[in-house]
Amino acid sequence: MSYDYDLFVIGAGSGGVRASRISSSFGAKVAIAEEYRVGGTCVIRGCVPKKLFVYASHFSEDFEDAANYGWSVGKATHDWKTMIKNKDAEIDRLNGIYYSILSNNNVELFENRAELIDAHTVKLGERTVTAKYILIATGGTPVMPEVEGIEYAISSNEAFHLEEMPKRVVVVGGGYIAVEFAGIFNGLGADVIQLYRGEQILRGFDHHVQQMVADEITKKGIDLRTHANPAKIEKTTDGLKITLEDGGVIEADAIMYATGRRPNTAGMGLENVGVDLKPNGAVVVDEYSKTSVDNIYAIGDVTDRVALTPVAIHEGMAFAETVFAGKPRAFDHSNVPSAVFSQPPVGTVGLTEAEAREKYGDVDIYKSEFRPMKQTITLGSERAMCKLIVHPETDKVLGVHVVGADAGEIIQGFGVAVKMGATKEQFDATVGVHPTLAEELVTMREKYTGDS
Ligand code: NDP
Repeated sequence: MSYDYDLFVIGAGSGGVRASRISSSFGAKVAIAEEYRVGGTCVIRGCVPKKLFVYASHFSEDFEDAANYGWSVGKATHDWKTMIKNKDAEIDRLNGIYYSILSNNNVELFENRAELIDAHTVKLGERTVTAKYILIATGGTPVMPEVEGIEYAISSNEAFHLEEMPKRVVVVGGGYIAVEFAGIFNGLGADVIQLYRGEQILRGFDHHVQQMVADEITKKGIDLRTHANPAKIEKTTDGLKITLEDGGVIEADAIMYATGRRPNTAGMGLENVGVDLKPNGAVVVDEYSKTSVDNIYAIGDVTDRVALTPVAIHEGMAFAETVFAGKPRAFDHSNVPSAVFSQPPVGTVGLTEAEAREKYGDVDIYKSEFRPMKQTITLGSERAMCKLIVHPETDKVLGVHVVGADAGEIIQGFGVAVKMGATKEQFDATVGVHPTLAEELVTMREKYTGDS
């Protein structure tokens, strides 16, 4: 049977665009559908604008630090609208690059919502097309819990387009997005209250990282409240009134929820064609990203494996090699490095101490906490931390965790080492780069026995 396309990709985010480009380079005839803007969450309303906001917000601290280095900066003020305008221009530029990537690689773009009619037929508005293979790469969307008055709350999507900078902000959640946005608004001068329903933010991260980030963001002025959650949100004449589950009341100009993301699978016809979904709507896939239907694959956040852009890109490349290059490849989801762009940021790869203990029993811990050099002659009190988790018999480094300036940059290189299975001895044989924060990772010799 002949089809209009060899591959039809639904969703032009990082994963979908990469999969379509690589598949096309292997000779496949490819089309892609996107209902919003080409580029996806990361480029349009995620990693990229978020990182620009983080840069913007960090200047306030830099201006303060500058004084002790001899600079007279004067009174610094921030113009929200300028930041938004310049951020939007950059997103438009990247959006344009994504269009070019598709056209330069002969990938036909449909700016439509796509719905599956059967396993090979896609409905795009009024027309239908057929394809031998279908790849679902529709990403995720913020979850807004059912709370009275939730319509007055925003998610990160809206935070990127606020007309004015809110002066009093409540951020709900304790994950990546909540911690990053609490830091952004705080750095830009807002009064920030972060509400987390549990005991400690950044659940799933190493416990020393959790504690350190909680301490540091509190020192920087974020009012972090644990075991706290809104019960009701009301609009008032000058903002919002937020009543907490324990009866407490907060007045704010904005409340932003960062309470997780849900895979985008609703209304796509997936159930009708027999694609199995998890209870949260995520597409069930095997190690080759194949769904329960033989010719339908799924990659990225919609599969709810590791919701990170570079992972979606790797899954997309593995898919293209598997299906169109005759080289079946399952992407290995272990030891994925990642960063939280909190202030200070976190870089992490491999197992947390708790995960390592659960898997291997006893493990060796190396930990160093210190005042970074930049802070020694400033009034800042920010601290940094480096931590290694090592297998006592094989000497393999099982986990590397960094809290401190440029932790995201640092962890990229150490991610290579951990992926290669480097040992502590090999870390020790590596000469440190002096003076840096990262050199601690190759100079720690004493096992940490503190609270472990
Ligand atoms: P997360 O799953 O990381 O965090 C969600 C947070 O919201 C948790 O603290 C959770 O609490 C809390 N929460 C969930 N439901 C409720 C509720 N009903 N009421 C109150 N609190 C609730 O999600 P994010 O939205 O922060 O991010 C989604 C994903 O996006 C991340 O997991 C990550 O993979 C990716 N991401 C990566 C970034 C990076 O690499 N720098 C940046 C941003 C996002 P609890 O802990 O109790 O479950």
